Amino acid sequence: MPNPCLSCGACCAWFRVSFYWGECDDQCPAGVPVGLTEDLGPFRRVMKGTGRIPPRCIALEGDVGKSVYCSIYARRPGICREVEASYATGRPGEQCDKARRAFGMLPLTPDAWRSPDDEPAPTQPETPPTSTPRAA
Ligand code: SF4
Ligand code: SF4
Repeated sequence: MPNPCLSCGACCAWFRVSFYWGECDDQCPAGVPVGLTEDLGPFRRVMKGTGRIPPRCIALEGDVGKSVYCSIYARRPGICREVEASYATGRPGEQCDKARRAFGMLPLTPDAWRSPDDEPAPTQPETPPTSTPRAA
């Protein structure tokens, strides 16, 4: 499955990335490298580079919209894990769409997660619905 985040990175260069200080590796093993963060008040820290305008996380490598990766992916803060790429799990992601638009990129669609070898997504239900759809 393709990962459209690897050719994007917009959210890592658009939002301030702040989190509870206890997530850093001076507090818990394998936490966020504290040297890549700055204090943000008594209880929070922020990824360096994301507290300024324009923001860009110090851990982001590469060119936004071309080829990127997070250099601390396995140790990234929880807030980064909560950003859901649109349609990665079948639904749009507000933060993802907003960040992509800020860099002139269209929001992801379900097709972004499909390999060229995948069969095309059906545009019509294969069988007519047998009951009245309900709101989720
Ligand atoms: S903005 Fe969306 S597609 Fe781009 S890196 Fe972030 S989650 Fe992935
Ligand atoms: S820590 Fe990684 S995932 Fe989080 S904003 Fe920085 S580059 Fe992006």
